[in-house]
Amino acid sequence: MATTSYLYHALGLIHHLLLRTEFRGGAVYYHVARKREKRACAGCGAPWWEVVLAGAFARVFRAIPVGRRPQFVVLHGHEQRCRRCGSTLREPIEFAKGKRRRTNSFDRFVVELCGIAPIKQVARLLGVGWDLVKDLFKQHLKAKLLRRKMGPVRYIAVDEFSIRKRHHYMTVVLDLETGQILHAHEGKDAQALIPFLEKLKRRGAKLQAVAMDMSPAYLQAVRTVFPYLDIVHDPYHVVALANRAIDETRRDMYRDFKGQEQKGIKGSRFLLLRALDKLSPASTSRLTDLMEMNLPLYQAYLLKEDLRMFWNSPNPWTAESFLDSWLQQARALGNKHFAKLADTLDSHRPGLLAYFSHRITTGPLEGINNKIKVLKRQAYGFRDNEYFKLRLYFLHDSIQAFAG
Ligand SMILES: [Zn+2]
Repeated sequence: MATTSYLYHALGLIHHLLLRTEFRGGAVYYHVARKREKRACAGCGAPWWEVVLAGAFARVFRAIPVGRRPQFVVLHGHEQRCRRCGSTLREPIEFAKGKRRRTNSFDRFVVELCGIAPIKQVARLLGVGWDLVKDLFKQHLKAKLLRRKMGPVRYIAVDEFSIRKRHHYMTVVLDLETGQILHAHEGKDAQALIPFLEKLKRRGAKLQAVAMDMSPAYLQAVRTVFPYLDIVHDPYHVVALANRAIDETRRDMYRDFKGQEQKGIKGSRFLLLRALDKLSPASTSRLTDLMEMNLPLYQAYLLKEDLRMFWNSPNPWTAESFLDSWLQQARALGNKHFAKLADTLDSHRPGLLAYFSHRITTGPLEGINNKIKVLKRQAYGFRDNEYFKLRLYFLHDSIQAFAG
């Protein structure tokens, strides 16, 4: 009796009784058969007394282990002939799906473990293949994604992430209010984004603004679907461009200079890319040396640092006059990299100023970047882009889940 309740509570078998228990090769086999009173006709629903047992079959199912000890259910099943409707049908198996050779509770257990441990460990613990564990978890995430409801999306951030070496990128969209990843798609071109934006539009999303870098592809995508949506160019990405300009300036000068002047620039890269307020006293004194040796490079550095102050403007009007004066100084440097940067910023003026209406950035996506790195390190699984994306969609829900 105790074992019948074990069948029920631990293995999830409700219509079966235990015939015998067998221990073989370190595993436990529970031989079970369907209870007589549970043999209704699978065709017409006639009660058990109308049913006659015909052919027999046996099937083995993997069940939840006890500790490290594997357990199996051996079902001694039958064909059932119905006296009422005349059909001969196999008895139903409620505890496993289709042709699967695992109990449903085993599959659920796999998924649950995947929430707290890496797939490799789950597979090892349960003594099954890594790909089986991954497939089950993948199916689970897929179903969960279908059930997921998208709230009123108002502020989003878009960015690209390198997912593999050699220019494999993924475009990721984050809901800035819920912190949920709404979309992930291979590539970083407009097509990686347009279908998603169209979906948002169809759902009647009341989008207020989108934060992104200044990439023409994303701009084009947003403009195609939402011609009047406010685009906010992310400060971090803009400063990164300015850093590139200073780096290119330094490289040019190094190439053109000789002797003592060249020496002054050597090893200044780190210094120039660093923010002024993050420099150590020693670095600050090196900066003073640089000022004496190479005034143009020093001026470019200061201007680059000054750009950061743009986002401290109290309102769009102050910001705009700041930008105007900055652009003027950048063009006056007589440095082609800064002139180009000035043109770029000038042509993205609305997106730079829009920051002061919405004050959103792609910053929250940067945090996700670290989690993506963790995901990427989990070896093999991420040859499977679909699975990788599913994991991304649920990064937010479960901190542990991305460990696998
Ligand atoms: Zn029947």
